[in-house]
Amino acid sequence: MHLTHRLLTHQLKEEKWILLNTLSGAADVVDRKGYESLQRMKEGDFFSVDKDFVDVLKKRAYLFESKSEEDELLRRMLEQNRKKIFNGPLKTVICPTYACNLRCTYCFQGELHEKIPISLSLEEITLLFQALDRIVKKNEAAGAEIQLFGGEPLLSSTQPLIEHILKLASERKYPLGIITNGVNLSKFTSLFRKYPGCVKIMQITVDGPAHIHNKRRKFVSGAGTFERIVKGIDFSLDSGIAVMMRVNVDMENVHFLLELADFIKEKGWNEKEIFRARLAKVETHGGEKNSLFLEYTLTEKIEKLKLNEPELKNIFSDMRISRTLGHLLKIIEKDYKSYEPNFYYCEASSTGIFVFGADGLLYPCSETAGNPSFVMGRFVPHLELNEEKFNLWRNQDVLKIPECRDCSIALLCGGGCRYEAMRVNEETRTQLCGIRKKQIEDYLKLHAQDFSLELQSS
Ligand code: SF4
Ligand code: SF4
Repeated sequence: MHLTHRLLTHQLKEEKWILLNTLSGAADVVDRKGYESLQRMKEGDFFSVDKDFVDVLKKRAYLFESKSEEDELLRRMLEQNRKKIFNGPLKTVICPTYACNLRCTYCFQGELHEKIPISLSLEEITLLFQALDRIVKKNEAAGAEIQLFGGEPLLSSTQPLIEHILKLASERKYPLGIITNGVNLSKFTSLFRKYPGCVKIMQITVDGPAHIHNKRRKFVSGAGTFERIVKGIDFSLDSGIAVMMRVNVDMENVHFLLELADFIKEKGWNEKEIFRARLAKVETHGGEKNSLFLEYTLTEKIEKLKLNEPELKNIFSDMRISRTLGHLLKIIEKDYKSYEPNFYYCEASSTGIFVFGADGLLYPCSETAGNPSFVMGRFVPHLELNEEKFNLWRNQDVLKIPECRDCSIALLCGGGCRYEAMRVNEETRTQLCGIRKKQIEDYLKLHAQDFSLELQSS
């Protein structure tokens, strides 16, 4: 027999241990007898273990007849997961420009905005859609899903470009989402009305109540943007376009989430079906240890907030700051039936993303747009794709990445951010994985007792 190594155990008080199965999503509490049986099984002794206990462990996918039986189950689950995510439309991002009208304090694209702003021309957008048609055909994809990104896609100067994109996308019935800072939305009213139903969703960032937001998300002049963005959100919701409000969280604004939630309630946004708000970590993807520590500290703070102010969960539909800890919470929240392991970290590493840069070049994820080290092809003057480079990104499941294959937390982590992995060296990467594992241990140390109480009372 074979005991999965994808099992996390942690000792609770009163001679109890919690078991979290990252493969099946099962969460259980065992007594000393059960824990000692597990220890014996880890050492290869399956014969002295109680038969009923063995049956339960088998049923909940902790225990297998052999390692190959576990591998086979994992392969089947991966295949199912692939069927679900790979049969959809092609994921694409279009950056009509790298210019931006804001200077947010934490922007990772700072350099791109400072250089001479680059934008696509109308002709280049036509070439872009010709290239997109070829890629969709070659991949036998069910159409394409487009996200407009930048810089800031909605500038006065980009209006003719956005109109051309809307025209070409709606001719193909490709749905569009726009990642915008939201300050210019009302200037685009007539354009969105001209192509009804084409724009499905806006992602707009609000970093807190006005006094915090305005310190972080500012115009080039230094003036705050809060009021303009609030009008933008109102405009979008009134036009029937869904809004995903993103809150970029760090230590500066985490304490103001409650105040922001009150503002959302005052506006009545949370009562609208087409409004959602979610938290996200301010990302650097630079492989800094500090960034991971921040991720952990923020998760801690947000978990405490959720405990003290349970209503926050009704305002923010997704409060996960760390993908790995967030996935651990899925097991703990006992979503056993719908639990799926994290085989991939993000879309860039699963289906792959085609990012059409404002410079006529192709990139593998939005964060890499404009960075010469990550170019994987071009669409101006015609389509050229370096498949070898693209294949370093897409379809990178945890069973394929050699370092991740046998990692005990792989099915929580999903293999990590490809962008980060390519920016840091092997030593740094190993250190980061060590920190991730330690964070899970620390997290369990702090919270396992609460989880077990929930499990026992359910
Ligand atoms: S080896 Fe590192 S990146 Fe890979 S799954 Fe484990 S923690 Fe994640
Ligand atoms: S590879 Fe990293 S930076 Fe790129 S989309 Fe995925 S998580 Fe984001």
